[in-house]
Amino acid sequence: MAYYLSPSTINLFKECERCFWLKFRKGISRPDTIFPSLPSGIDRVLKTHFDKFRKNEELPPELESLKGFRLFNKMDYLRKWRDGYGISYKLGENSVRGKIDELLTHDGQLVMIDFKTKGSAPHENSHTYYLDQLSIYGWLFEKNGFFVKKKGYLVFYYPDIVKETGEFKFGSELKEIQIDTKRADRLINSALKALEGDLPNPSPKCSFCEWRERVNHQLKDT
Ligand code: SF4
Repeated sequence: MAYYLSPSTINLFKECERCFWLKFRKGISRPDTIFPSLPSGIDRVLKTHFDKFRKNEELPPELESLKGFRLFNKMDYLRKWRDGYGISYKLGENSVRGKIDELLTHDGQLVMIDFKTKGSAPHENSHTYYLDQLSIYGWLFEKNGFFVKKKGYLVFYYPDIVKETGEFKFGSELKEIQIDTKRADRLINSALKALEGDLPNPSPKCSFCEWRERVNHQLKDT
C-alpha cells in the first residue's frame, strides 16, 4: 500500500500516532471540523498581492526588512507547487507532498516562506509551532535538487482596525524560523515506520480514547 504524507499528516503523527495509523491503515480519519473560509480567502488575496510585486521585481512592504531577497519569479513552477499536489518526492512506493504559499530566493538558495492568518498579533513563540511544516517544505525542495536556505519566514496576518470608511485593516508581522531538514527527514521516516507496525497506543495528551472506552464499557453493563 502506498502512503502520501504531507506536513499536515506529519503533524497528525506528532499529535497522536494512533490517529495517524488509523487514518492511513484503516481509512478512519478524525471527523471533519467546520473549516473557516476566512484563512483560505486571505491566502487567495495574498497570492494575488505577492504576484503584483513579483511582476515589478519588488518585495511587498511586509517583507521590506529582508534586504537582498527576491520573490521567486518562475511562475510556471510556482503555480505547480502552489496548486494540485504541490511539490513531491517519492520514497520507495510512498510519497511526501507539500503545497507552498510563496517562495523567496537569496544568494542562489530557495527560502521557505508561509502565510499564517491569526485572530490577533502572534505571541513571541507562535512561530515555533510551524518549524516542522517549513522544514518539510525545505526537505522536499532539497530532495528535488534545490539549495535551500537554513532560515525560513512566516508572515502572520491579523485583524487590526476597522477604519471610519468601513475598510478592514490587517496588521502583519514577519518571523524568522530555523529550517531543519535533518529533523524533517527523521520525522518522515518515523511516520512511515509507524505505519508498518501495529496499532499504536492512544496519545497520553488526549483523553478522548479513554473516555470512549469508558462509555463503551458502561453501555455494555446497561
Ligand atoms: S488518543 Fe485522541 S488523538 Fe489519539 S486516537 Fe484516540 S482520539 Fe485520536
